[in-house]
Amino acid sequence: MPDENQDPAERLSLIVETQREIAAAEVDLKVVSGLVAERSQAITGADGAMVNRLEGDVLHTLAATGIAAPAVDARRPLSGSIARFAIEDGQPLLIQDTVNDPRIDQELRAKVGDRSLICVPLLRGGEVIGTLNVMSSSEQHRLGEDDRRTMEMLSVVLSAAISHAEEFEARRGQAEAFARFRTLFEGASIGILRLDRDGCAVDANPALEQMLGYSAAELARTSFREYMHAEDLRRAETLFRDLMGGRRESFQLEARFVRNGGELVWAHVREVLERDEDGQPAFAMAMIENITKRKQAESGLIRQAQLNEYQALHDPLTGLPNRLLFTERIEHTIAHAKRAGDGFAVLLMDLDRFKEVNDSLGHQAGDELLKQVGERLRAALRGSDTVARLGGDEFGLLLPQQRGPSDVQPVIARILAALEEPITVHELPLAMESSIGIALFPGHGDVAEVLIQRADVAMYNAKRESASFCFYDADQNEYDPVRLTLVAELRRAIEAHELALHYQPKARLDDGRVRSVEGLLRWRHPSRGMIYPDSFIPVAQETGLIRPLTLYVVEEALRQCRGWLDDGIKLSVSVNLSMRNLLDREFPRHVARLLERWQIDSALLELEVTESTMLANPTRTKAVLEELSALGIRLSIDDFGTGYSSLAYLRQLPIDEIKIDRSFVMNMCDVSDDAVIVQATIDLGRNLGLDVVAEGVETQAVWEKLRGLGCKLAQGYYLSRPVPAEQLSEWLGARRDGTRRVSPAARPARRVA
Ligand code: C2E
Ligand code: CA
Ligand code: CA
Repeated sequence: MPDENQDPAERLSLIVETQREIAAAEVDLKVVSGLVAERSQAITGADGAMVNRLEGDVLHTLAATGIAAPAVDARRPLSGSIARFAIEDGQPLLIQDTVNDPRIDQELRAKVGDRSLICVPLLRGGEVIGTLNVMSSSEQHRLGEDDRRTMEMLSVVLSAAISHAEEFEARRGQAEAFARFRTLFEGASIGILRLDRDGCAVDANPALEQMLGYSAAELARTSFREYMHAEDLRRAETLFRDLMGGRRESFQLEARFVRNGGELVWAHVREVLERDEDGQPAFAMAMIENITKRKQAESGLIRQAQLNEYQALHDPLTGLPNRLLFTERIEHTIAHAKRAGDGFAVLLMDLDRFKEVNDSLGHQAGDELLKQVGERLRAALRGSDTVARLGGDEFGLLLPQQRGPSDVQPVIARILAALEEPITVHELPLAMESSIGIALFPGHGDVAEVLIQRADVAMYNAKRESASFCFYDADQNEYDPVRLTLVAELRRAIEAHELALHYQPKARLDDGRVRSVEGLLRWRHPSRGMIYPDSFIPVAQETGLIRPLTLYVVEEALRQCRGWLDDGIKLSVSVNLSMRNLLDREFPRHVARLLERWQIDSALLELEVTESTMLANPTRTKAVLEELSALGIRLSIDDFGTGYSSLAYLRQLPIDEIKIDRSFVMNMCDVSDDAVIVQATIDLGRNLGLDVVAEGVETQAVWEKLRGLGCKLAQGYYLSRPVPAEQLSEWLGARRDGTRRVSPAARPARRVA
């Protein structure tokens, strides 16, 4: 009930007391609001009081006493409240007759039961932040002007207290956030650094101390310029200056730091600008991640890739381009010469009696000799010429801009002169002689492989005629009597079905089960007896015969596979391909047709291709291999380890299997270098997700050793020699009956055609 007798001085002292009490109270918004509401009610002698906070368009009752008590924590829109009139006026509002005032929500009034009220806006810096209300239900003692002034004063006290409490809460929030940040900061595995405008550390977390090997105190005295690597400093400096100039809000960079002790640390740095209260750039917050390991791995990979690339294209002994690069260069030169209407020459050269040097003086001497020959050839030729080592004692030379034999002859004279002087190897002067075969573009061919092959034919003729060099002669090549007979006979043999396949099993090393069989060609010549593939495959390759021959073999293998399937034996068959097959765009289509004809699932066919075959013309070869693989046929790299395949390149091919060349496998129990190569190849295959087959397994010792190394499959005489199909079926049957190993037959004595 309003107390009219309270004198103004007494009221003032009560207000001051309230202020003191508030100052002493906990600085909590709720507590302060409650205190003020209570005091307002008491000092004005009202029945109720409330403190409302304005939150956007909503009034939130923070505290309420007396008849207003039920409203605590209520939220209602400002638009429906009497407060809006006080707020609009910016002045305390006194309503002495609430029952008849049109501004009053009568429904609400009836609930509260007030007859008079005062509503005072709470202001902070001119902005309304809420209201303080008191109300009285008494008919007689209505709130009056004195009360309004009292409330006005109390509202000032309250406004200050609310501001104070809010600031405190905000600071407490900050403190909590800061404490959370601090925990993160201290515990983070990433380096965190706060830099002032000069680039000195204001703060550095333990991770950063560890990363750089300096304590936070040391860092505080040093600018980042002193521990950043000189080569990265310029860029970092520019970015930092932009940041501190307020021209950017953040930046990222990869940079090297020099650790205490000199070691380099690669880091990913992300810096964010921190502004002061006036919005001026003040600090930079840097997050620094140590990426040294990643960088090392990256540069290792790049180095490895470069090395692979180099190794794929160069001969390791002489450092000269290898066959692949030689072929590529010829292709380029063809393209260039066609545009320019120019000619050029491809030379193949081999050393006469090189084998004697190797045999009598040893491999080291042979290697030394080859190196020196390479150097002399290089010195005798122009920089624009290519000297390549194609293998063994065979070199390839590419001489651009040669219109015909008369241009080439002086160059040949220079080459021969260069080799005339004996070469000293292990203090022995050796007189070397060589044979050179020459093919000319465009007269002798306009495809790299053809030019090389024809230079090879010419070289062969040079040798036969004991000439130092020989130009390719189309007539001689085609009418070579031995060749002609062989080609004609082979053609006839295909038709007469004199060519048969022998089969050799590939088995799993862990349980000895046979997974597939390789078909190997045999020619049962009516008068010359058994002829082995090495004697006739090369001739077939040089002529168009290889296509029908390979298709014949594929069909034979599939026919046999069908036969076995009909007998209830499920065996994959594999067939060897030649380079020509992989250059033949039609080849995959023919194979698909044969699979269809014999109703064989493509997964049961494997095709074996040697490394060098694959690398002969990478683009075309890849296209054909991809088509074959898309058919579902398994692809295998034969004689792996004999070429210098680039891993990077092999990975791009759809390969399923690699077969370690038998030259490494056969003696691996005695030759430790071989064992190392075999082991490395097994690991390599496993890493690439490929099946690894060791071929040429002749003894139980090798079999056991391979199994120990984790090799998956093996092939070789130990298991079985290549045998006719019927014999293989018997052998398989006998094995299934429990015989551990039954070698079907000894290989018949080899007779050369
Ligand atoms: P390849 O594909 O490497 O075939 C394996 C050769 O190694 C076969 O010789 C086989 O008899 C022999 N071999 C198997 N196990 C052992 C062993 O334990 N020790 C030893 N020392 N040798 C073993 P083959 O039958 O004389 O064939 C020689 C090459 O002729 C084959 O080498 C393959 O490149 C080629 N060839 C065979 N048949 C065909 C064919 O149908 N088409 C084509 N394009 N090439 C074929
Ligand atoms: Ca093979
Ligand atoms: Ca092989």
